Amino acid sequence: MRCAIAKNQNETIEKIVSLSKRRGFVFQSSEIYGGLNGCWDYGPLGVELLKNVKEEWWKAMTYREDVEGLDASILMHPRVWEASGHVENFTDPMIDCKQCKARFRLDTLTELISEKNKEKAIKEISASINDKNNQLNIDKYNWIIANEIPLDDKFTALLENQDLSIKLIELLGCPQCGNKGTFTQPRKFNLMFKTFLGPVDDSANIIYLRPETAQGIFVNFLNVANSSRQKLPFGIAQIGKAFRNEINTKNFLFRTREFEQMEMQYFCKPGTDKTNYDEWKERRINWFKSLGMTPDKLRFHDHPKDKLAHYAKEATDIEYEFPFGWGEIEGIHNRTDFDLSRHQEYSGKSMQYFDDETKEKFIPFIIETSAGASRSFMAFLVDAYYEEEVKGETRSVLRFHPRLAPIKAAILPLVNKDGMPEIARKIEADLRPYIRIFYDDKGAVGRRYRRQDEIGTPYSITVDTQTLVDQTVTIRERDTMEQVRVSIDKLLPLLLDKLKQ
Ligand code: ATP
Repeated sequence: MRCAIAKNQNETIEKIVSLSKRRGFVFQSSEIYGGLNGCWDYGPLGVELLKNVKEEWWKAMTYREDVEGLDASILMHPRVWEASGHVENFTDPMIDCKQCKARFRLDTLTELISEKNKEKAIKEISASINDKNNQLNIDKYNWIIANEIPLDDKFTALLENQDLSIKLIELLGCPQCGNKGTFTQPRKFNLMFKTFLGPVDDSANIIYLRPETAQGIFVNFLNVANSSRQKLPFGIAQIGKAFRNEINTKNFLFRTREFEQMEMQYFCKPGTDKTNYDEWKERRINWFKSLGMTPDKLRFHDHPKDKLAHYAKEATDIEYEFPFGWGEIEGIHNRTDFDLSRHQEYSGKSMQYFDDETKEKFIPFIIETSAGASRSFMAFLVDAYYEEEVKGETRSVLRFHPRLAPIKAAILPLVNKDGMPEIARKIEADLRPYIRIFYDDKGAVGRRYRRQDEIGTPYSITVDTQTLVDQTVTIRERDTMEQVRVSIDKLLPLLLDKLKQ
C-alpha cells in the first residue's frame, strides 16, 4: 500500500536531493570548491537514468519513417542568433538589491514575496495611483487593482506593467536581506553566455554558447532534406546541451544554467500545421505516461493568444506537478515559417522547399516539441519517489519504469558460502553483457533489498539453498515485493521480455 510520509513539499525535495547525493544520482558541481550555482553533475546512477531518458526519447522520436536525427555543434555562427531573435529578445527583466547585491528576475518576484507584503504593496500602490498628484493614467491602471482576480495574478499583472512595476518595487523589501527601497530599476539581461572564437578577445570575435538546440536543426533543414531524401512532412530530432545564464536558478535541476534539451522540429506544408500540432501534442504527453509518469500529475497549459512568443501561432506546455507546484517540462509550439524565413533573410540563402508533386515552392511551417532532458529527469525522479510503511519500518523506494531504472537487476547470494557466490557470479557473467546489473553480497538480504528499492532497481535475483538443489532462483519484484522462482536458464529471456514492456 502506498503511504506518503513526507510531511511537506519542501521536505520531499530535500529528501530527494539528499538521496540523490547519498546514492550517486546528482552531485553539486565543483562541490569541493563550494559548488557552482545552477550547475550539477550526474553521478554513476544519475548518468544511467539520464541516458535512459534520452534513449527512450530518441527511440520514440526517431525510430519512425518521418524523423531523422542530427547532432549539430554547440558553437554556431553569430548571425544565427541575430536571425533567431535571441540577441535582441532573449532577455529577462532583472533587478538588483543595492544593499545585499542579490539579483532577482522581476517576473518571479511574485513567488518570493509573502502574501501579507503583496497585499500591503497593492494597497499602497492603489492609494498612490489615486493620488491626484501622480503622473499615471488612473483609468488605465485601476482595472488591475480593482479587478476581482487572485492576489498573485494581480501582483504579476502589476509587475508586468512597465510603469507600475517601477513604483511597486520601491514598496517591496528585498526577499534576501529584507531591506526596503533598495532595488535598482529593472534592466534587460540577455541570457546567452558569450565567449570568443580564436585567441583575440574582441567584440568582432564574440560567439555564444547555444541557448537552445533548435537553431542547429533549422540551419540544417535543407542538408537533411536533401541527403535523406525526406519529403514533407518530416522531422529532425536532436539531443544536446544548452546554456542559459539564468538570473535565478532554483529547485534543484528544474532551472539550471547548463542543461540538456531533446528537441524535434517537424516541417510541414502550411495549412497542415494545425493537424500536426495537435497530433504531436498527444504523442508527447503520452510519451511521459508510457514511461510511468502519474497521469494526474501531467497537464497541458495552453498559452493564451496574447501571451504567445513572437514566433508562435499556437503553443502549449506539458506541465508536471512538482512538490513546489506545476512546472513546464516540455514546450510544443507552432512556429509557423518564422525560423526558416528569418534564416533565409539573414543568410541570403533560399530555405524554400520544392514540392515535386504540386511543383510548388514554399517555406515550410514548423511544429516544435522541446523537452528538457534534465528537467524530465527530475520529474521522473520526483514522480518515482515513495515512502511506505512496511512491517513497521519505512521503506523508501523509487518506482522507476524498468526501462528508465539505472540498474535493471541485482544479484544477491543469500550467504557467502556453500557454493552460492559461485552460482551468483556465473549468473552475473551471463547477464552483464545484456543489461545493467549490480552484484551485492554485503549484509542481510532484507537490507540488500532495501538498498535496491532506494535506487529503483526493479528486480532482485536471489541465489538460496534451493538453488543448490534445482538450479532455480527467486526474482523479487520491487513494487509488489513478491517473489517467484525461476529456472536460471530462463532468467535472461524473462528479464529482457520484462524490459521490453
Ligand atoms: P522556462 O519558462 O521554464 O524558463 P522556457 O519556456 O524558456 O522555460 P523553452 O525555451 O521552451 O523553455 O525550452 C524547452 C524546455 O527546455 C523546457 O520545457 C525545459 O524542459 C527545458 N529548459 C529550459 N530552460 C531550462 C533551464 N534553465 N534548466 C533546465 N531545463 C530548462
